[in-house]
Amino acid sequence: MDYRLKGMGWHMANKCVLCNGEEETVVHLFMGCPSTLAILKNVSGERDEVIQLLQDQQDAMVVLKQWPKLQVSGLGSYIWTLLPYAVLWSAWSMRNEVIFQEGFSVEAATMRIKATLWAWLAMLPENLKERSKRNFISLARNWQAVLWPG
Ligand SMILES: [Zn+2]
Repeated sequence: MDYRLKGMGWHMANKCVLCNGEEETVVHLFMGCPSTLAILKNVSGERDEVIQLLQDQQDAMVVLKQWPKLQVSGLGSYIWTLLPYAVLWSAWSMRNEVIFQEGFSVEAATMRIKATLWAWLAMLPENLKERSKRNFISLARNWQAVLWPG
């Protein structure tokens, strides 16, 4: 889109702010960015089905539609369903924040996604009932146990 600006030496403006690498496009930010992929791996427990899906797909909508099912009930199940939306939402909002100078790290991003999900769980009464059995710190610390018990 900014090819005229690039010709004038504005190339930097098109770099992805999360990985400081490739040229930024929405496809890169959501599906190709190594930082987004590292965050997704952190919060999805590096599940084989998820990694496979990400390798095969270049389209975030398809990933949302084909997001694998997880054999877990209650809070873990609600979180798992919302998880890919939280990652994409957070990648987009952090990209905007970095542009406005607030910084970025994979660790901070992982924590933010957990906090985003915590907030989203308050939107449905059924989810909120499960959420009220815990507090945020305990969820963030016991992430693996909630999503992959046993
Ligand atoms: Zn990137």
